Amino acid sequence: MINKNKAHVAIIGGGLAGLSTATALAEQGIQTTLFEAGPHFGGRARSVGIEFNSQTFQVDNGQHILLGAYHETLKLLEKVGVQEKQAFLRLPLALNMISPRNNKVLKLANPNYLPHPLNQLFGFLCCQGLSLSERFATVTLMFKLKKISYRLTADEPLKNFLLKNKQSNQAIKFLWEPLCLAALNTPIELASSKVFLNVLRDAFNGGKTDSDFLIPKLDLSQIISTPILRYLQTHQSTVLSNKRVHSIQPIENGFEVATRSEKYTFSHVVIATAARKLKDLTADLPKLDFVTLQTEAYDYQPIYTVYLQYPSHITLPQPMLGLVDLTSQWVFDRGQLCGQQGLMAVVISAKGKHQKLTQDMLALKVAQELHHAFPHLPKPLWHKVIAEKCATFSCEVNLPRPANVTPYPNLFLAGDYTYADYPATIEGAVRSGLACANLILK
Ligand SMILES: Cc1cc2nc3c(=O)[nH]c(=O)nc-3n(C[C@H](O)[C@H](O)[C@H](O)COP(=O)(O)OP(=O)(O)OC[C@H]3O[C@@H](n4cnc5c(N)ncnc54)[C@H](O)[C@@H]3O)c2cc1C
Repeated sequence: MINKNKAHVAIIGGGLAGLSTATALAEQGIQTTLFEAGPHFGGRARSVGIEFNSQTFQVDNGQHILLGAYHETLKLLEKVGVQEKQAFLRLPLALNMISPRNNKVLKLANPNYLPHPLNQLFGFLCCQGLSLSERFATVTLMFKLKKISYRLTADEPLKNFLLKNKQSNQAIKFLWEPLCLAALNTPIELASSKVFLNVLRDAFNGGKTDSDFLIPKLDLSQIISTPILRYLQTHQSTVLSNKRVHSIQPIENGFEVATRSEKYTFSHVVIATAARKLKDLTADLPKLDFVTLQTEAYDYQPIYTVYLQYPSHITLPQPMLGLVDLTSQWVFDRGQLCGQQGLMAVVISAKGKHQKLTQDMLALKVAQELHHAFPHLPKPLWHKVIAEKCATFSCEVNLPRPANVTPYPNLFLAGDYTYADYPATIEGAVRSGLACANLILK
């Protein structure tokens, strides 16, 4: 049992994983110090200011979407005082996919008036844009997945799995591939079927609202890091920004943690950085070499977000639309979502030819694609491309994922890459942070 009066936990990394560890420990009265290398907290889920015509617009480093199944994230936000209705637009599952090039659409919606899971069955059966036999094959697959509790004995690339399960090219292109890119940020030819099915399980096999989309109505820092920091500061936690940790040394009864200019001692340490930053911290921790070797082998996938500002009266038919056969994959109307009238956020997940374009060329291409899909759109007034080149680890077949415990007692690993059930997501990061806090508290 932890001695609350003597324990002092260092948490290294102020992303969702570190913030969730700190909150869970602070709630139990454990002294914590949170080190963040950058000036801001939130890590890969944060807001940024963009300047145009001496005005600053707050946007996110990438348009994020949460699912109703993100229970731990929603509980964490509730704990720190975030009111869901003010923070998110909750939309029952609805996919509106458009292929302007081939003049095709797919529309999938779960009718709200039907009880769960009938609403899902009805949604798939009535999916517009797929033939009767394609819809039948999709429903058959969903039944099969339920029967096997969404668990596979052997992992394989998602595309193989879908083809083996009689999903047509059309169903893959309009339904499964966009979902795979949105959930795993990994090309469907490489993506882990096991991890994808875990996300499907949580979205479709739980309560009626677990498949809801929750789209932020405020910028991410207002929803996540600001309220969590406020909570931590009122719970006697120390939060330090611009404090990059350079080394961690095991010492008697704990660890010495060093930044460039200071040394601190702690009883416990949680390393909550992204996987690719782990190596920077483990030089004096040789028993972690095998973990560093594992994570050094990870490949990473980018996410590009192209913000296009149109005149303020411009809107799209839906707040969120999927685009097929184009460079642009999803478009979000931030006027409808968060009151930023005329601002569209276009998301492009995973590696692709778009990475070869300059940012201006990419913005022009995306603006042309939007104009083709929605001819009422004029030329944008300005654009900004945010390229997160290593947005997430590539969630591939049988990817080894380290555990939260390490060979060093009282040293733990948190971060989206340690929560093996999920791809790199907010919920994975939050759950990993909670797991570390529970290991410390037990
Ligand atoms: C563009 C984009 C879009 C995304 N969209 C979605 C989405 O729609 N839905 C979803 O669920 N997820 C999405 N994700 C993924 C999600 O944002 C991440 O999985 C999650 O935020 C990871 O949190 P983390 O705490 O594990 O890591 P991080 O957020 O990377 O946090 C690690 C922190 O550690 C700090 N750090 C590193 N080294 C040190 C050091 N030596 N000392 C001190 N601090 C250090 C870093 O500065 C960083 O703040 C998206 C990610 C990106 C980039």
